[in-house]
Amino acid sequence: MANYETVIGLETHVQLATESKAFCADRNAFGADPNHQVSELSLGYPGTLPFLNERQVEFAVKLGLALGCQISRRSTFDRKNYFYADLPKGYQITQDEHPICIGGHLPIRLDGATGRSIKLHHIHMEEDAGKSIHAAGDPHSQVDLNRAGTPLLEIVTEPDLRSAEEVDAFMSGMRQLVRWLGISDGNMEEGSLRCDVNISVRPEGSAEYGTRCEIKNMNSMRFARRAIAYEVDRQIALVEDGQEVTQQTRQFDPESGTTSALRDKENAHDYRYFPDPDLPPVVLTEDYITQLRESLGILPWEAYKELVALGVEADEAALIGEDRQRFETFRRYAAVSPAPAELAKLWVNRVLPNTRDAEPALAPDQFSALQGLIRDGKVSAANAASRLLPDLLERPGDPAGRAEQLGLIQNTDSGFLESIAREVVTANPDKVAAYRKGKKGLIGFFMGEVMKKSKGSAEPKETQSLLREMLAETE
Ligand code: ADP
Ligand code: MG
Repeated sequence: MANYETVIGLETHVQLATESKAFCADRNAFGADPNHQVSELSLGYPGTLPFLNERQVEFAVKLGLALGCQISRRSTFDRKNYFYADLPKGYQITQDEHPICIGGHLPIRLDGATGRSIKLHHIHMEEDAGKSIHAAGDPHSQVDLNRAGTPLLEIVTEPDLRSAEEVDAFMSGMRQLVRWLGISDGNMEEGSLRCDVNISVRPEGSAEYGTRCEIKNMNSMRFARRAIAYEVDRQIALVEDGQEVTQQTRQFDPESGTTSALRDKENAHDYRYFPDPDLPPVVLTEDYITQLRESLGILPWEAYKELVALGVEADEAALIGEDRQRFETFRRYAAVSPAPAELAKLWVNRVLPNTRDAEPALAPDQFSALQGLIRDGKVSAANAASRLLPDLLERPGDPAGRAEQLGLIQNTDSGFLESIAREVVTANPDKVAAYRKGKKGLIGFFMGEVMKKSKGSAEPKETQSLLREMLAETE
């Protein structure tokens, strides 16, 4: 059997977090009672006229700039006509001919590998349809039009992805980016982020793409992975059997883990696209675009790089750099930290679980003082993490003073350490003999005794090297 390469292109839909809908003032929010966010405009009554939500344009341009797209100075709206119960106007307002963003790419990060960039074809603005509800046991289908007219961006990639893992990384990256930019909550469970997955296979080394199938409306990465795996196997089996893949729109059934044909692929002319006569072109000035470009700030992949350059480990960099506010907070602390990489560990293990992304009670300079205590051996790293820091996060104050109060200051005074170590060695001649015969594990016993006598204040590194010297000396 030949080896096959999987080729995937995504059409990702992002619901925008605007106050109102794309072309009218009805509220845009998830979870309201069915059909409670629907004026005559959402219902598509004859005689109503759409007017464009400025915010949708702003969000589209922001996303386009972040992704390195070319921003169209003039874009237009078209009508995509089809008949369905959840589409009250009988057409969807979309951008077919002249979308708002062209090209661009999303950098993705795969486990253990250096990242790569997925090429985009374009991004266009459109509106969502309502929702048909087919409840079990109900002979009728119900229609909820709250979602009709919700502003969407559709991000269309080139056929540039090669595996389910890359799809996963792309969707995670997109979710992170739309949240980072504040343009969507990116919530896949609630349908704010979903994608159509176009899949084909071809023999490895082949220059031409195979015929693709499109799996509609994946709103869970777990399902998307299963759907892709099934579809790849199905297509390879067809090709191996000498049959042809038919270009189709398919749906995934989570129960059986299989995909099945919904309809043979429709062509653009089936939708009778034509320019929407009710909406003028969107014309953007250079000033407008410049202003939005300047408002972008640092982007997620730049934040990640910055963290790695500080010496932060990959997993920690991913976690701290996941959210913009989280990153910005960490950045202010790292700027005055004597050891940003160690700060990142404390941040991930101790600070984030405590603050849940709120501003830590401990100020940046106090935090760096705490790290100074660890570096100088005044407080052990373990005690600093498990006792001093949690205490300071509860009741902020001077770290050195607090360490004193909590009895966490370690003694590095060599005279003090030597006298205790000598006492312990003298009091345990049998253990010393055993150590000398090779039971080197007894170092733990001696350490424990010194710790007891010093009430835990002996600095461990210093103590251990002292003990080893003394024990060798008696040989
Ligand atoms: P249509 O015009 O029929 O919607 P497009 O050319 O716009 O088709 O492509 C839709 C999506 O399908 C894009 O994401 C694109 O990357 C992807 N795609 C196109 N050809 C293939 C292919 N042979 N295999 C996998 N994906 C493909
Ligand atoms: Mg398309």
